[in-house]
Amino acid sequence: NRMAERVADVVKSLMKMGMMVTQNQPIDADTAELIIEEFGHRIQRVSDADVEDVIQQIVDKEEDLKSRPPVVTIMGHVDHGKTSLLDAIRKTSVTTGEAGGITQHIGAYQVATESGAVLSFLDTPGHAAFTSMRSRGAQVTDIVILVVSADDSVMPQTIEAIAHAKAAEVPMIVAINKCDKPDADPQKVRTELLQHEVIVEEFSGDVQDIEVSAITGQGLDDLLEAIALQAEILELKANPDRAAEGAVIEAQLDVGRGPVATVLIQKGTLKRGDIFVVGEQWGKVRALVNDKGERVDEAGPSVPVEVLGLNGTPEAGDVLNVVDTDAQAREIAEYRAHAAKEKRATAGAATTLDQLLAKAKADENVAELPILVKADVQGSAEAIIQAMEKIGNDEVRVRVLHYGVGAITESDIGLAEASGAPVIGFNVRANSPARSSANQKGVEIRYYSVIYDLVDDVKAAASGLLSAEI
Ligand code: GDP
Repeated sequence: NRMAERVADVVKSLMKMGMMVTQNQPIDADTAELIIEEFGHRIQRVSDADVEDVIQQIVDKEEDLKSRPPVVTIMGHVDHGKTSLLDAIRKTSVTTGEAGGITQHIGAYQVATESGAVLSFLDTPGHAAFTSMRSRGAQVTDIVILVVSADDSVMPQTIEAIAHAKAAEVPMIVAINKCDKPDADPQKVRTELLQHEVIVEEFSGDVQDIEVSAITGQGLDDLLEAIALQAEILELKANPDRAAEGAVIEAQLDVGRGPVATVLIQKGTLKRGDIFVVGEQWGKVRALVNDKGERVDEAGPSVPVEVLGLNGTPEAGDVLNVVDTDAQAREIAEYRAHAAKEKRATAGAATTLDQLLAKAKADENVAELPILVKADVQGSAEAIIQAMEKIGNDEVRVRVLHYGVGAITESDIGLAEASGAPVIGFNVRANSPARSSANQKGVEIRYYSVIYDLVDDVKAAASGLLSAEI
């Protein structure tokens, strides 16, 4: 079809080459290439690299970079006050910000601190959102606020949140919440965090800790200033004058408006009329709506906006790229949809120890073997960690992303997938949602009851990494 040649001629040519095929039979790419040349047409091999090349991989010059607001995610144990804190922070900004500003839920919002710094908050608390974004390749969070209730202290999901932030190498600020309560014990929170290698400033560490109350508003300004300070240290920058790139925070099909996506712009400036591709979808920006429900003409780095004008609904974590033409946008979107379908068809284990090995051999930079450990009791978990730390040397090391006590959960699988790590169960099993999630995501779970066996296997995998280096 593309060559505008008659089928009979193509079949005849193939036969001359010794291939007895009919018109409905697929042929391999190399044969196709020969045939195309034979007929005097130009060949364009469409691979990931070719199609995605259209997306301009602009290397920003240092002088074009301007400072941008930090993007903040709130994590912590259930009921420790994540939602209340997000609401309280938003209200602070409404009263101190422009008059009558009615915030609208678009998945993220911006506030200004008293000293004038602007901060962007992701409005979806919790780890699930954080890991699912990461596993799709979108790293949007610059700073994690770890909320710990002063009347409940460190709990399982607090520990998980710490693991998530550490795995993503995102700095944390501890918000010790519910300090208005009579039984609040902030010092207990600080001490317990020590056991998880979170050392707050009061204990001469480098993690800022702020006592707050989402109910009375106590400490909120200090928290915002702490974020602004952390952002300054990070020296966050982006080039606002280029084709926009951003990440989808959430997306849905709106009855009146069609597919709508909230996108956090990461580079460049998204403008009305821009043509873009986002995951397997594409579109042309028909309207942009900010977090106050106002229509805007453009959105720059770290600004969350609702984007209208999509041809379909993308997924959270999908990356949006502005391209030059409709045709390019459509081609990339279609190519990705096709590739994703093929990948689903051949879905198998994605992160087994063996594959990590193969990956290490292909990529010389991988000298780290990430693993996640769940054990029956704290003592054995610690013994495993110590044994793991002994494995490896300067060139290769085992990196324990997270360890904990209890059954392997869905959250563990999410973290493992996002970091490409297998999950080790020591005298514990995975619960059933975790098992099906692991199957679906291709995360390997290995069970052990003897530390020696575990050490042996990990050693073998790590020495594989080592030999790959040489
Ligand atoms: P989340 O599950 O972490 O999002 O927690 P929520 O924000 O839903 O809060 C759980 C409960 O704690 C709610 O009943 C809140 O009213 C209460 N709460 C949250 N923050 C505070 C606080 O600073 N002080 C007090 N006394 N209660 C709070």
